Amino acid sequence: MASITMDTRCVQAGYRPTNGEPRQVPIFQSTTFKYDSSAEMGKLFDLEASGYFYTRLQNPTNDIVAAKIRNLEGGSMAMLTSSGQAANFFAMFNICEAGGHMVVSSSIYGGTFNLIAVTMAKMGIETTFVSPDCTEDELNAAFKENTKLVFGETIANPALSVLDIDKFAKAAHAHGVPLIIDNTFPTPVNCRPIEWGADIVTHSTTKYMDGHGAAVGGAIVDAGRFDWMAHADKFPGLTTPDDSYHGIVYAEKFGKEGAFITKATAQLMRDFGCIQSPQNAFLLNLGLESLHVRMPKHVENGQAVAEFLKNHEKVEYVTYPGLPGDKYHDLAKKYLPNGGCGVVSFCIKGGRPAAEKFMGALQICAIETHVADARSCCLNPATSTHRQLTDEQLEAAGIPAGLIRISCGLEGKEDLINDISQAFEAI
Ligand SMILES: *Cc1c(COP(=O)(O)O)cnc(C)c1O
Repeated sequence: MASITMDTRCVQAGYRPTNGEPRQVPIFQSTTFKYDSSAEMGKLFDLEASGYFYTRLQNPTNDIVAAKIRNLEGGSMAMLTSSGQAANFFAMFNICEAGGHMVVSSSIYGGTFNLIAVTMAKMGIETTFVSPDCTEDELNAAFKENTKLVFGETIANPALSVLDIDKFAKAAHAHGVPLIIDNTFPTPVNCRPIEWGADIVTHSTTKYMDGHGAAVGGAIVDAGRFDWMAHADKFPGLTTPDDSYHGIVYAEKFGKEGAFITKATAQLMRDFGCIQSPQNAFLLNLGLESLHVRMPKHVENGQAVAEFLKNHEKVEYVTYPGLPGDKYHDLAKKYLPNGGCGVVSFCIKGGRPAAEKFMGALQICAIETHVADARSCCLNPATSTHRQLTDEQLEAAGIPAGLIRISCGLEGKEDLINDISQAFEAI
């Protein structure tokens, strides 16, 4: 059969019921699985046979949904996690332990920044943050003897900068380490980082993949291309025996295609237990079935709202990579030819008081700490997530008091624009 389109894969990948089986993905709502003999179950514990024994490690519903996401990203193997935070932590910690070093784009989600700069630092993992706009020389200069990975976001939340994935992949590979890309905002419908050289792709499935504000979740996809054995001294966790699994060497036993996810499941999921509930995996799959229909609509609404805001007299500036003239427009044309996402940020004239009045007057767009939902929502960091900062501190952090982030949902774009327009009149 000819190669199958993204549309069909969003709907059907990961699950092909045979004669008489349920058409919809079954929810395996069971903590455990039954075996006829201890010997058979023993093989699973030794990773000698594949199968299920306890849902903290693996569950068939989760594996079906992970297989769909693996297919959409074009990877070799994938796993679900309880949240996007868990996905990014597992992806990094799987290959970078105490004494290791990471090179990370400074333009990333605040939760991920805290994870890396505070919590992973306490675990003895050091990080050098680099601007996504750095030159190749500046990027190369950030690497050290003990660097284990490079990390960035395709479209950063909330800065909306677009990462030059190709530049970051080349630098990572020149130093013998993999590139991990958080592809939450564009989703594989709008960008597939593996095609640009990424080795591992992560997601907060809480966002567009679920898309209905129903279930927190995460995913990790391995491209299956990174040659751990060729850099064996850097990645002993994958290339030397694991004593907690009878001396298995993951990279030898499961190869480039399977080593990374098998280790993350067998060690990290076993020990940290950040499993997604099968019920949430089912809800996530419902979201994925319409991802290819929803993303173009989010982009259409984001583009229309960004263009409206750009021409409005009460707006200082708009940030949206889809706008000609945006700092990241050229990178967006390269990596996101069909558009990026529905999130737009803009600075309202008049600072905090104007932002508060404007948001209070919105009828359709709700005030929420969330993005990427079917329902439009907005947030003013100065009066919510960053309210402890003074106007001067906000300015220094690149988050002026009047900055508003709007996540355009799936409503009619005329209605969103009319809503925004009447809210400006209320100021
Ligand atoms: C929300 C988000 C996360 C964290 O995901 P949770 O599911 O909230 O844990 C990570 N990365 C990006 C880009 C995000 O937007």
